[in-house]
Amino acid sequence: MRVSVFGATGSIGESTFDLLRRRDDIETVALTGGRNVTRLAEQARSLRATLAVTAHDDCYAALKDALSGSGIEVAAGTQALIDAAERPTDWVMSAIVGAAGLAPGFRALAQGATLALANKESLVTAGPLLMAEAARHSARILPVDSEHSAVFQALIGEDITAVERVIITASGGPFRDWSKDQLAKATLAQAQKHPNWDMGQRITIDSATLFNKALELIETREYFGFEPAQIEAVIHPQSIIHALVGFRDGALMAHLGAPDMRHAIGYALNWPERRDLPVARLDLAQLGQLSFQAPDPDRFPALRLAREVMELRGHSGAVFNAAKEVALDEFIAGRIGFLDMAQLVERTIDSLLSETCLTRPVVSLETVVAMDQMARKTAGRHAAVMV
Ligand code: NDP
Repeated sequence: MRVSVFGATGSIGESTFDLLRRRDDIETVALTGGRNVTRLAEQARSLRATLAVTAHDDCYAALKDALSGSGIEVAAGTQALIDAAERPTDWVMSAIVGAAGLAPGFRALAQGATLALANKESLVTAGPLLMAEAARHSARILPVDSEHSAVFQALIGEDITAVERVIITASGGPFRDWSKDQLAKATLAQAQKHPNWDMGQRITIDSATLFNKALELIETREYFGFEPAQIEAVIHPQSIIHALVGFRDGALMAHLGAPDMRHAIGYALNWPERRDLPVARLDLAQLGQLSFQAPDPDRFPALRLAREVMELRGHSGAVFNAAKEVALDEFIAGRIGFLDMAQLVERTIDSLLSETCLTRPVVSLETVVAMDQMARKTAGRHAAVMV
């Protein structure tokens, strides 16, 4: 099988690399990264990739240098990422963070490759378009987010029309039991420490605000096509159950596993087979208890905003995601507080509600990009008056 990995140097990319390096039946076509060219070159040499691409033009020389004498092709820039996605391959991991992951995923689908989708922003910003692109090219999208992989697995052999509800779990992040006053003072260092999962910086902070869960609610709607009222989120601090599917007869099918992304990645890599994976096996007696609680919409407004987006659809997902990315940048830069992030997203959505195309169906990638840019500008303006 031929594979390519987009975002190979990140958290998901490293977990994917770890699975690929254990296999001798895989040919690596392209690996892409951002600024971490040293690591990208190491991975490319280790997997004997055909091509290594950095997203940044100014990193080209360093990558070229790091791969000299290897015979591995080197390229740089946004267009090079898209060209890499057009290289014939069977399986593509989409693990670039943020809206930058959108275009390569589309190109991979257009050549009929199976898209292992970690980049949740693709479904949030352009869900209907992405699903249509997959259908047009008879290509598969396999969810890699652990919750969506769990739902996917719980649905195997089931009649989707018999599904009553889907419940995705959230650890609640590091601030699960914090008061609003404490949240207002939460620092970057505190927000980027996840209690259960080892992930990239951005998704870790998104877990603290529950924006990550908000993106996942929208992702669930877009990937599986369930109605918003059928999709729930519950706080489950242990992160052992990833999702549950409830059927019309009252049965709930849960997916359990250790919090290790190599399960969902490996499942997508091996699908439709199951193969051995190097993940810890659960000892239920040792775990003792699993607990659950309802999310608090007052302390964590991200879920309420996600519900709004699920109802509005159209380009509201692109606006939501772009505003969230700006809010995150502002928080990381220390310009706004932890609770300001949700406020900034809400203000941006409210400002753009009057835009006629906000709720218009998504028909092209260009309109998604245009709304993304408009939302970034609007969010930037709101952020400027918040600091
Ligand atoms: P990381 O920040 O750890 O890695 C992101 C990757 O994307 C790196 O390879 C980075 O390169 C690259 N990158 C960053 N910016 C750009 C850009 N503008 N253009 C091209 N490449 C870029 O993120 P994660 O691995 O945590 O997450 C990746 C995606 O997977 C996200 O969408 C996230 O929501 C999703 N996801 C992550 C999970 C996790 O456990 N981490 C779980 C489920 C979903 P470099 O580092 O070299 O600069």
